Amino acid sequence: MSGGLTSLSNRKDATRLLDASQVEAMNAYCEVYKRYLGIAKTERRAYAEAVRLLEAQGFKDLTTFERLSPGDKVYRGYHGKTLFAAVIGQAPTATGLRVVGGHTDAPRIDLKPVPVMEKGGLAFFDTHYYGGIKKFQWLTRPLALYGVVVKPDGTRIEIAIGDKHEDPVFMITDILPHFGKEQAKKSVSDAIPAEDLDLLIGSTPCPDDGDDAKESVKRHILKLLEETYGITEDDFASGELEIVPAGLPRDLGFDRSMILGYGHDDRICAFAGLKALMDLEGTPKQTCAVLLCDKEEIGSVGATGMDSTFFANSVAELIERQEPQPRDILLRRALEASRMLSADVCAAADPHFPDADSPNNMACFNAGPCIIKYTGAGGKSGANDARAEYLADLRRIFDANNVIWQIGELGKVEKGGGGTIAKYMSYYGMDVVDMGTPLLNMHAPSEAASKLDTFMTYRAYLAFFAD
Ligand code: MN
Ligand code: MN
Repeated sequence: MSGGLTSLSNRKDATRLLDASQVEAMNAYCEVYKRYLGIAKTERRAYAEAVRLLEAQGFKDLTTFERLSPGDKVYRGYHGKTLFAAVIGQAPTATGLRVVGGHTDAPRIDLKPVPVMEKGGLAFFDTHYYGGIKKFQWLTRPLALYGVVVKPDGTRIEIAIGDKHEDPVFMITDILPHFGKEQAKKSVSDAIPAEDLDLLIGSTPCPDDGDDAKESVKRHILKLLEETYGITEDDFASGELEIVPAGLPRDLGFDRSMILGYGHDDRICAFAGLKALMDLEGTPKQTCAVLLCDKEEIGSVGATGMDSTFFANSVAELIERQEPQPRDILLRRALEASRMLSADVCAAADPHFPDADSPNNMACFNAGPCIIKYTGAGGKSGANDARAEYLADLRRIFDANNVIWQIGELGKVEKGGGGTIAKYMSYYGMDVVDMGTPLLNMHAPSEAASKLDTFMTYRAYLAFFAD
């Protein structure tokens, strides 16, 4: 096969660049990814499955190492949500790392701290959405509930309801078209008030109650929660429960050329980085690391987000175990000398919404992962703008490894834009650029990606590590 930057003339034809063995490798990779995506429905589950996969490949918890040697495979987790994994290079980590960093949180709907309520004879969970969602997309579809409840004595109760065949599902209601005339007059963004994103969880009164008992449906649900899961109403105070679409990833299209699933943003890039690290052959020249971080969808804030010291601390832990005299300046030099691919998805051009597309500069399906030189909005405000020299070296790497890739930006000037974890990493002085898989309907309950782009994202990250 041949790779390279897909120009406008061959963008649509990139699938023809794969030979039969590459198509087979692509399909095999996509099956492994679909399995991961179906399990990794929350950041906690994405973390747990990543650790399971890493350990199966011989990676060990960093705290078990007193000293590190080239070729050692380590991981370091934080609060079960954010993960750093590395293969130690031939050169000391203090000379810089190759980093692929993605995020494993995705837009969703969280429960409020006091969630159970009854309205009009029906029981609901009261909710607060997380990340950028179009609220109407989440109505009238089967939803699942995932998360954890921790009791004051430390008991953990894992919740995963809605994806097993025998499980019930949940739903947010909408008004029928016959009665919805008032709703129809409103703009799409105003039609569904955020406070009305209530999750329907039951409809029958408690069998113990008399006919005139108040809030009997709510009491019935609380009784079932206690009997089935050992959760009381107070326990929600120390819970993290997330409402996500029910259902597993599926092939999309007669030609099965695409994958439809929840949470491609950004598990598709996070997994590609993880798999590339695990598939590295031999000991890389420089230490290669993957970052799977949390909280990107709400601004990378918090202890498990990228705007924290977790990454720098993890690199410091590597240097501590390699240098005879670890000093702070070694960490600073390592960070500044590092190179990173900010592994995040981008928007694919949709022919139904040409107003948003930046002509000739918009990612499209089946043309490989897309480098986004700068994000930001308006006059590149808030952007990490990668330098030409770094991009030139990436071109060399991808061309030498037959990677099919493209370059573009996030929509029309002053109409598009966005942010990723790139700017938090560039803070250290390292070279960073965004590169990830193009998606249709990003942030919707079901997002679509092309299989070629999914596979080539992995190939790009593998080439970057192995260079
Ligand atoms: Mn993202
Ligand atoms: Mn996003």
